[in-house]
Amino acid sequence: MDIEFTDAGGNLAPPDGRVFPRFMGPSTFARLPRVDQVESWDVAVIGVPFDIGTSYRPGARFGPIGIRLGSRTLRNWHPDLEVAPFTAHQVVDAGDIACSTYVIDDAIAAIERATTELTAGGGRLVSLGGDHTIAFPLLRTVHRRHGPVALVHFDAHVDTYDTYMGAAFTHGTPFRRAAEEGLFSAEHSMHIGIRGSKYGPEDLEEDAGFGFRVLGTWEMEDIGIRGYVERIAERVGDLPLYLSIDIDVLDPAFAPATGTPEAGGFTSRELLGILRGLRGTNLVGADVVEVAPAYDHADITSIAAANVAYELLALMAPDR
Ligand code: MN
Ligand code: MN
Repeated sequence: MDIEFTDAGGNLAPPDGRVFPRFMGPSTFARLPRVDQVESWDVAVIGVPFDIGTSYRPGARFGPIGIRLGSRTLRNWHPDLEVAPFTAHQVVDAGDIACSTYVIDDAIAAIERATTELTAGGGRLVSLGGDHTIAFPLLRTVHRRHGPVALVHFDAHVDTYDTYMGAAFTHGTPFRRAAEEGLFSAEHSMHIGIRGSKYGPEDLEEDAGFGFRVLGTWEMEDIGIRGYVERIAERVGDLPLYLSIDIDVLDPAFAPATGTPEAGGFTSRELLGILRGLRGTNLVGADVVEVAPAYDHADITSIAAANVAYELLALMAPDR
């Protein structure tokens, strides 16, 4: 039986899971059409299988494959936001960026080049990492079109360290490099979910110098999901927004398969709830990084990451 894509109001959409069960058919994200199957598109999901910037557990090079597997359960209708993320406009899977797995500088250049070419027509990207190093070239691409964006960074770690073993481009340094190039607006940017041990007090002191406002995970008891949403929305204002989501912002109970797990994280419900609250912001690009499927159990982390990416696509979808 041939798997057929659905034509929903002129847009090519994933096959209907009631006719073609979700465990069969294309291995693209949520079984979306490939980029070469459409004439034009609005949003593309793209894999960036790069992980030589990791400082602890490697393996995020398999993140795009894992997240795509975890995405097979996704359905088109988002009942809470009342949007159809896959059919409200044309969404595609643009495959993976071929980037060096030996030379970090070459990989960064390849990611920037590929995403710049891909978005030349005005489309937006949801990028699947890959380790967090990739946020730097992705922000360069977004900056070229939009100027300094509001950067909201979900992570247990600040990722504004200077170097690791002398290396400037790693998964612990992308936002310091981005700050040095002025890629985001310091007055409109935040870290969400910071927690865990640090090398010393200077880690957070230096980070504050880049302008980030910080909300950890412990505030959840006091201010709730709504409190996070209000503080983020107020900080972002009307600026174009870029969301960078390290899956380790979730507790290891909800995302065990990641490079540098830290106890005390958000539940997946809390993270999805915060993201949902950002409907109405001008989301111009996003990434979901640090999924390393080899450490997973029953696809827990891949499913969580796929659902995070789904929320991002829902935020980008036009109203019904
Ligand atoms: Mn990170
Ligand atoms: Mn992290």
